[in-house]
Amino acid sequence: MKYAYFKGKIVPFEQATVGIMTHALNYGTGCFEGIRAYWNEDQQQMYVLKLVEHYMRLIKSCEAIHIKLNLSLAELVGVTIDLVKKNGYKQDLYIRPLAYKSEEKIGLGLHGIEDDLAIYLAPFGEYIDISSGIKVCLSKYRRITEHSMPQGAKLTGTYFNSSLAKAEALDRGFVEAITLSHKGNVAEGSGENIFMVKKEKLITPRLSDDILPGITRRAVMEMARNELGLKVFEKSFKPAALYTADELFFCGTGAQISPIVQVEKKKIGNGKPGPITKQLQDIYFKAVRGETPKYKKWCTPVY
Ligand code: PMP
Repeated sequence: MKYAYFKGKIVPFEQATVGIMTHALNYGTGCFEGIRAYWNEDQQQMYVLKLVEHYMRLIKSCEAIHIKLNLSLAELVGVTIDLVKKNGYKQDLYIRPLAYKSEEKIGLGLHGIEDDLAIYLAPFGEYIDISSGIKVCLSKYRRITEHSMPQGAKLTGTYFNSSLAKAEALDRGFVEAITLSHKGNVAEGSGENIFMVKKEKLITPRLSDDILPGITRRAVMEMARNELGLKVFEKSFKPAALYTADELFFCGTGAQISPIVQVEKKKIGNGKPGPITKQLQDIYFKAVRGETPKYKKWCTPVY
């Protein structure tokens, strides 16, 4: 981390700091994105994955919490590319735009409170084991519903719920947790969406199951239909259905495509990453590094 975007310009990372009275720090009044950039050594090129889609979701999140971004979509994209260039890394990155109520003010509400946009990035490898598969628990926490927080937005405050689920998983000796919707349907992981393979079909919870509308989730659906000819269903299901799945995996910007090999005490399939999951991983990792002409549209080159 050498440079960050802070208060309208690119500054040395150390200068991008906020005070303890910052509204967002006290009340969780912010929204953010997590974006990956993949370095392609052969092409000496950095590809930012689904950059426009991430900023479209950030704009939506900002609208949900009365944050007015001073930058247009094209400017957000431009600043991000400038920042990646300025940092000059030649390795995979994680980019974090954060729009937040920056005013140092005591008191609740969203109106008339100053906000700001910060963007930082860091070298980033695997967030979750993607080769041997992970063991996950069923969380006792349920996702925050549309009755409590705006749906479809990636809001910082919501992530306390996700952090509780993740901490619970680690406390119980698991790597991740599967959370349920307010109705008790399977929702997602703490920071990733979930897919189930059953009899050559791919099934994933519906948006109404209190999930974040993942950008990787959509990419997986596209790849599964187009490359593997699979039928994909958005369908609500209860946790019991997980135990009879042929394959399970998480997907997300951070998690990428991450096989789940055990839920609570029950092995999924033969306890190893399944063939469809592995095929999707192969297609995904080629695509994100800009190696598949058809999916080049997913990748914004930096250089
Ligand atoms: N669900 C949650 C709660 C998340 O935090 C994320 C990561 N942003 C996802 C799903 C996956 O979303 P995406 O594929 O857009 O990264």
